[in-house]
Amino acid sequence: MTKIKLNGMLTAYDKKNLTIATVCSHSSLQIFNGARKEGFKTLGISIGKKKKFYDAFPLGKPDEFFIVDNYKDILKYTEELREKNTIVIPHGSFVEYLGADKFLTLELPTFGNRDVLLWESDRGKERKWLEAAGLTMPQEIKKPKDINKPVIVKYHGAKGGKDFFIAKTYDEFQRRIKKNRSFAIQEFVLGTRYYLHYFYSPIQDNAYKLSKGSLQLLSMDRRDETTIDEVQRLGSIAELEELGIHPTFVVTGNIPIVIRESLLPKVFKMGEAVVEKSLELFGGIIGSFCLETVVTEDLEFKVFEISARIVAGTNPYISGSPYSELIQSDMSTGRRIAQEIKYAAKNNLLNEIIS
Ligand code: AMP
Repeated sequence: MTKIKLNGMLTAYDKKNLTIATVCSHSSLQIFNGARKEGFKTLGISIGKKKKFYDAFPLGKPDEFFIVDNYKDILKYTEELREKNTIVIPHGSFVEYLGADKFLTLELPTFGNRDVLLWESDRGKERKWLEAAGLTMPQEIKKPKDINKPVIVKYHGAKGGKDFFIAKTYDEFQRRIKKNRSFAIQEFVLGTRYYLHYFYSPIQDNAYKLSKGSLQLLSMDRRDETTIDEVQRLGSIAELEELGIHPTFVVTGNIPIVIRESLLPKVFKMGEAVVEKSLELFGGIIGSFCLETVVTEDLEFKVFEISARIVAGTNPYISGSPYSELIQSDMSTGRRIAQEIKYAAKNNLLNEIIS
């Protein structure tokens, strides 16, 4: 959507009567709860039918449901949604199931900078961005023949870690690889995983200062991934693989975690570098983003992925995390997003944080 079109929409909006909307999935309970705490009306876009479980969570339930048959149908009802002064909060499922290309054309004011998708959804560009920012990523192995240490093989378009596999040798790779699918091979980084949840505001200077605006660290999690995280209950991976049982990386939940305090300077330096480079490349990664990292035994971070929006790993922190409690009590990422929109609306800065 062009900037001119967006500005036209925002000009027509009643800024004192905004509605925060998202698709009923992923982190929607948190988003609605945070928006409610900041005094917004909330709207839940529900696919197929209204989901009954929201009735069990009155403080996470949207004020209104908007039912559509499927994700693509959201594109048809944008005018109706604009009449409600709707600002959309994208989350992982929203973008994934609507499709990045369609999401880029959605004619609704959307929190964050949608241009980030062009960098995030292309593995090559993502690597260019993160390495140009000075981050260390797992080594990429271009030719399977060069596998000389444990690697993780990621099929393109594989959803949620499903059918990624680990191979320790070229032979094992050859036995496991599915023909006719494109893939990338990465060094398997041994260490502990931390999924770091940042929030970048280009319009407020009240946190870790950057060349423009400031950065916060709101929380971090570790994903619970089946079956890799529990496979040892049955025996060693090698033993199981002989039986044809291969561990997978499907996310089933998220576990709260904190990191050694002495690593926080590195955590901020990485966040800072990613934001500064994004400002240079495409106008900035705005709002929440997550760096998915492994910390090695030498206490070095290797970053294997970036998510440029609210991640489900923030869900354990609806009433605040050990980090956000040091900023403001009772502040989730969902609430922080609502605060940013509220601040921008009040100061006539919405076009700085919406695309
Ligand atoms: P992704 O879809 O890239 O987030 O990867 C899914 C899961 O695979 C992650 O949550 C990690 O547990 C694991 N993983 C991905 N890349 C690596 C890597 N290079 N080294 C070790 N584990 C990885």
